[in-house]
Amino acid sequence: MAARPDRGDVATYIPELARVDPKHFGIAVIDAEGNAHVGGDGDMPFSIQSISKVFTLTLALGKAGDRLWRRVGREPSGSPFNSIVQLENERGIPRNPFINAGAIAITDLILSGHQPREVLGEILRFMQFLADDPTIIIDEAVAASEQRTGYRNNALANYMKAFGVLDNPVEYTLGVYFHHCAIAMSCRQLAMAGRFLAQYGRNPTTGHRVVQPERARRINALMLMCGHYDGSGEFAYRVGLPGKSGVGGGILAIAPGKASIAVWSPGLDASGNSHLGRIALEILTRRMGWSIFGA
Ligand code: GLN
Repeated sequence: MAARPDRGDVATYIPELARVDPKHFGIAVIDAEGNAHVGGDGDMPFSIQSISKVFTLTLALGKAGDRLWRRVGREPSGSPFNSIVQLENERGIPRNPFINAGAIAITDLILSGHQPREVLGEILRFMQFLADDPTIIIDEAVAASEQRTGYRNNALANYMKAFGVLDNPVEYTLGVYFHHCAIAMSCRQLAMAGRFLAQYGRNPTTGHRVVQPERARRINALMLMCGHYDGSGEFAYRVGLPGKSGVGGGILAIAPGKASIAVWSPGLDASGNSHLGRIALEILTRRMGWSIFGA
């Protein structure tokens, strides 16, 4: 890792992500009227990585409803995103849907009864529908890169499998997981996709409900408590919005009723969250008075 104390370090454990130029910075804000405010590299696609977990959770809740909570908890973990330690004490049940173990369990739930290819198509179409943009794709090079080197995720999945928490073959579940993490989107596309969370479950393009308002509120609650792993407290303290980070350097943040915001800067802090992305959100929410905790 190159030392860049000002920006943080790009993720290197996925070799393909290590090649990304850390100098990129993008931002997109979609306000309640549907206006898009885009700056910097806000139209450049990047690897959304764990931000995809917000959308797989949404799909899984649509399929399984509250049954989902039998295999994943709803508590902040206070541990790194790829931690295995809590799984042993909790009988293979991950703390929440946003740490890797939880997201793998969610992917497994969506996969049941389907072929991996079908499910991936469904996830991708869901993203395209929400962003109102059919050009969004999966970056196969990133997926392959993670598949080759995903030793920790293999360990997590096998460990959960041993407890009977996963129903499908581990390689199928991980194949889908790596591919949905490898979806490439720009800040503009991501902020568009997050609108339903800022608009009480509604997709403003079509006027249709994506989820009930109560479900949007609950997904936001999970993002606030768990969306930045062991950095979630710091993010709530500094930014005060539900947010979900990815090791590609993106963050999706939701100001309920006000805006859907995406930022991207590839350099990460010690918890694997975008360093400058968080600072940008902190400045934005302070200036706009958007923190859910008041000015
Ligand atoms: N695909 C990445 C992994 O599983 C996602 C992690 C992240 O974005 N925090 O390690």
